[in-house]
This record gives sequence, structure tokens and C-alpha cells, in this order.
Amino acid sequence: MSVLGAKGVTEPGEELLASALRQLDAAAKALGLDPGMHRFLAAPERTLIVSLPVQTDDGRLAVFTGYRVQHSTARGPGKGGIRFHPSVTLEEVQGLAMLMTWKCAVTDLPLGGAKGGVAVDPRGLSAKEVQRLTKRYTAAILPIIGPTRDIPAPDVNTDAQTMAWIVDTVTMMTGQHSPEVVTGKPVELGGSRGRHEATGRGVAFVTLEVLRRLGRRPEDVRVAVQGFGNVGSIAARSLAEAGCRIVAVSDVSGGYAAPRGLDIPRAMEHARGGRERTLEGLEGATRITNEELLASDVDVLIPAALEGQITAANAGEIRAPIIVEGANGPVTADADRLLAARGTTIVPDILANAGGVVVSYFEWVQSRAQFYWELEEVERRLETYMRRAMELVLDRAKTHDCSLREAAFIAAVQRVSSAIEKRGIFP
Ligand code: NAD
Repeated sequence: MSVLGAKGVTEPGEELLASALRQLDAAAKALGLDPGMHRFLAAPERTLIVSLPVQTDDGRLAVFTGYRVQHSTARGPGKGGIRFHPSVTLEEVQGLAMLMTWKCAVTDLPLGGAKGGVAVDPRGLSAKEVQRLTKRYTAAILPIIGPTRDIPAPDVNTDAQTMAWIVDTVTMMTGQHSPEVVTGKPVELGGSRGRHEATGRGVAFVTLEVLRRLGRRPEDVRVAVQGFGNVGSIAARSLAEAGCRIVAVSDVSGGYAAPRGLDIPRAMEHARGGRERTLEGLEGATRITNEELLASDVDVLIPAALEGQITAANAGEIRAPIIVEGANGPVTADADRLLAARGTTIVPDILANAGGVVVSYFEWVQSRAQFYWELEEVERRLETYMRRAMELVLDRAKTHDCSLREAAFIAAVQRVSSAIEKRGIFP
């Protein structure tokens, strides 16, 4: 039972928070963590809830609720995205902020965990309305964000344009040019080279490391990738470049299989060219369903679309012995247990998709120094961080004789609790 007490869980946000707490509980138990420390880590340090009035284009007053949660700033300023989605709740933001703490700790970034969001469906707003909402939200959370406090980034339904509006708001309100207040900015405004590709490249890197340690040659490895957006397409392309055969990919339009391997650069060009930006109409591939993709007879399965794709209901059909979590939370806790019992290796999201936050950290460093790195430098350093994190997790899995997911949580919780202990509780 979580230290917060077992409550009836109904909403997806509550489920996400409950699952984050369960993982913390398991790590605390494995580490023999002090109960007071466990309790401190189970709750966010700071939560801000804001009410956001926005003038609509037709002159009405719409009001939205926004959140910014800082789970832990023990190891450095908070770091985490901002999402605009109707399902955003306080619980969801709290759970995601906690996961950011562990993700930054496992990759050894000098950053803590935070997350923000506004409960809104941006598709129902004009671009001007979204801009006004973003600027009002930024002004409302300004008292707790900043380059040495908490650095937001894009998440679901927010992007480089959203970050540019945030930079503008902070610059206007403080009178100081402030690109270092967010990451994920457009490159023209101080964004990092290689940020766009970072998550997918990190996913490919950890996949190749797992294969190398198993003595598998990339040329003999078949891969299926669910989701062909930023993370999925770049991961597929990087793995294909390394020699793997990508035998199936899918997106919202369905799945596409080719046993001899798909031409990934051509598939990316095809998706870019279409009005819907999907794989619909891709030639040289057999149409399959998303369910068939997940059940493909492959060596590696990379779910890189949405959360909750592999559940207790379909876990029995998964044939891949290795799953690398490109998306956040694609394997539910129940499925995780079933797959672990069958000996499936799962590289957990807080390690596998951490490449994005690693390069976000590089962007923060570059923006603060006002000195920008070449792409080769970004890629070289990304590899160093991912390799170190991978080695740490494998080492902890051996020491504690546990899954890679439990090992990642153990390593992260140990780092954060140790930072709190070394600092000494204030006052
Ligand atoms: P994206 O919007 O670029 O791509 C999502 C892809 O999933 C699209 O190809 C979409 O068509 C596909 N998709 C949607 N519904 C689907 C379904 N039912 N079946 C199969 N495919 C479906 O998003 P992204 O940035 O690639 O993010 C994907 C996942 O990775 C999310 O869980 C996100 O939180 C996580 N993530 C992203 C980053 C990043 O840097 N972009 C970093 C960490 C984690």
C-alpha cells in the first residue's frame, strides 16, 4: 500500500499517480528507505493551481484551470513539460512530475522533476486564443518558474511555438531576454540542435546496447515500431541505419508490414508528404492492424505512440522477447507483471525515452551560456549520458536481482534521497 493510503482509483490521472507511487513504494522497500524520506518523496514539494481567463475571438470570457507541480528540486531546478489536454488533472500532473524526478535522476542530470498543464482542448481554440491562453498561463506560473527554479518544455499539444510565446511573456514581464526559461524552443530562438531527434535516437541507442550485451548482431534483428511520430520514426530510422530490419510500423492510420524490411526514410517522406501526415497509402507493405503489429513475431517491439497499449488483455499475444518503451507508460502494471513472468526484457520509459530530457538539459546549458553546440557535439554527449544511465540500471538490476524498471526506480530514488540527506533538512 502506498504511504498516501490506498484510494479507489477511477480517473486515468489517478491511475498514473497511483502507479508512480507504487513504483516508489517498491524502490523504497528495496532500499530500506527511511519512512520519513519515503513520505517526503511521495508528495510534491510545491503545487500551484491557477485560474486562467481568456478573451475569445468573439468577445466571450472563457476560463481554464492550469497547474504547475514541482515534485522535487533536491538535485536541481524542476524540469518538465506543459501539456494542453482536456484530461489534465492535478493528479495526472503530480504523477508526471514525479516521473520527471526519476527520469532526471537516472540520467544524472542536475535537475529535479516538475510538470504543468492546462485542462483544455486546444483544437477548439483559434491560434490566437491558444497564444493568449499560453501567455496568461505563463504569467500565472511566473512566480515559481525560472532558469534556476523550474524550466518548462513542450509536451502533449504544445510545441516550439508554445515555448516561443513563453519566452516572450517572461521577457516582457521581467524586462530581460529570457530564452533559458524553457527548453524545446525553435532553433532560431536558442533551441538546441538535435533536440527534435534526441528521444528517438536515445531509444535506438538503448535498444542497440541491449542487443550488444545479448551478443546479437543488428543485421539479424527484426523490429516492430508502434507510432510513427517524432519518437517512433526517428528510432526506426536510427535502428535501420545501424543494420536492423524494421519489419512493421504503425500510426493512427493502421499498421504496415514487410518481412524483408521497410524503407524507413521513404516511409518518413511519405508521411511528411500527406495531408494527414500519416503512413496511409504506403507502398511496398502489407496492411496490418495495430493489434497485429503488437503481436508481431519480432526480436524487439518498440511501443512509441500512447500510454496503456500493452495491457493484461493483450500481453499474452506479445511475442517479442525485448520491449523498449519509447512512449511514456505504454505497458500497464498488470501487463508488466505478466510479461516479466514470461521472461520478457522491458527497457522502461524513464530510461529508454530519456534522450529528450538529456538534450533539453543541453539546451538549458547552451541558453544560459549563450553558446551553441554543433550537432556532432550534442549527439556525442547524448550517447555518453545514455550509456552511463544504461550501465547504472543494468548494474542495479544485477545487485537487486530485479527487472530493469525496478532497477531504474531504485537507482533514481537512491540518488534523490541521497541528495536530500547530504543537503540536510532545512532549517
Ligand atoms: P507524436 O505525436 O509525434 O507521434 C505519435 C504517433 O503515434 C503518431 O504517429 C500517431 O499517428 C501515432 N498513434 C496515435 N494513436 C495511435 C494508435 N492508436 N495506434 C498506433 N499509433 C498511434 O508524439 P511523440 O513525440 O512521438 O511521442 C510519442 C510518445 O513518446 C508519447 O507517449 C510521448 O509522451 C512520449 N515521449 C516523447 C518525447 C519527445 O521528445 N517527443 C519524449 C519522451 C516521451
